[in-house]
Amino acid sequence: MNPILKLAIQRKGRLSEGSLGLLRDCGITFSRSNGKLKVSCDNFPLQLMFLRDDDIPAIVADAVADLGIVGRNLLAETRDDVQSVRDLGFARCRLALAVEKTRPWTGLKDLEGKCIATSHPRILTDFFERRGISARIRRIAGSVEIAPAIGVADAVCDLVSSGSTLLSNGLREVETVFESTAQLVATPHLPDDKAVLLKRLLLRIQAVLRARTHKYILLNAPEKSLSSICRLLPGMKSPTVSRLNQPGWVSVQSVVAEEEFWEMVDRLHELGAEGILVLGLEKMVF
Ligand code: AMP
Repeated sequence: MNPILKLAIQRKGRLSEGSLGLLRDCGITFSRSNGKLKVSCDNFPLQLMFLRDDDIPAIVADAVADLGIVGRNLLAETRDDVQSVRDLGFARCRLALAVEKTRPWTGLKDLEGKCIATSHPRILTDFFERRGISARIRRIAGSVEIAPAIGVADAVCDLVSSGSTLLSNGLREVETVFESTAQLVATPHLPDDKAVLLKRLLLRIQAVLRARTHKYILLNAPEKSLSSICRLLPGMKSPTVSRLNQPGWVSVQSVVAEEEFWEMVDRLHELGAEGILVLGLEKMVF
């Protein structure tokens, strides 16, 4: 029988859209009628299992699923025997300490002997141990932000992305405890035939993730600046250079990391570049 990879993804919640979007961008299709929770993909040997994300680390550790997509926060909290094989970059958030807005804050030592509500007691215990703070940790499964207002804790340690939920609950973020993004995790002893499939899947994922953080750039430049421009835009191997129908001018095409683009534009202008076009990429395969 041909091997099939089993991938556990969050059924509903903050990781679902990113997980499904990644599979779609990898060209993997499936139809999920009537809310089915186990689905085979049409064009890749992959079976999807739709689960609560809290259950995914244990399901992967027990090899019920070969792979899973979960937040790094959950991995650190559950410490199940699974390894991250790729940071997927989405669902970026941080686990942060927050206190009531009206509470004065001079530093972590203000929490000495206090009660902190969190759904991540293990991560917080480690953090306090490293910082030499002795505090009482109260585990709350959800709605952590309400704890100070109802008198069950002096502060909270909760997942934050924009910070607006904390603010609307009268809380002020005071310290980052842990940073998280979605991770592709794998069971520790993946059989060889499935490892081959994982390699194929990872090739697609890498191609999609690289394309998300890079842009294709085209520009016209005076030939005399060409060597400086090529140093600035090394591209995947080297930039493509073609001659313009105007003496002394060339067109240069390359790939740049999006985060470096605006800094580069100033430098390109100084070198006489004109007509800079920037295009999105779909996939980048090396
Ligand atoms: P949820 O769908 O609320 O159960 O969240 C699932 C996962 O999404 C969390 O474990 C985090 O890894 C991630 N996440 C990203 N942003 C946030 C956020 N603002 N609050 C909670 N979780 C977040």
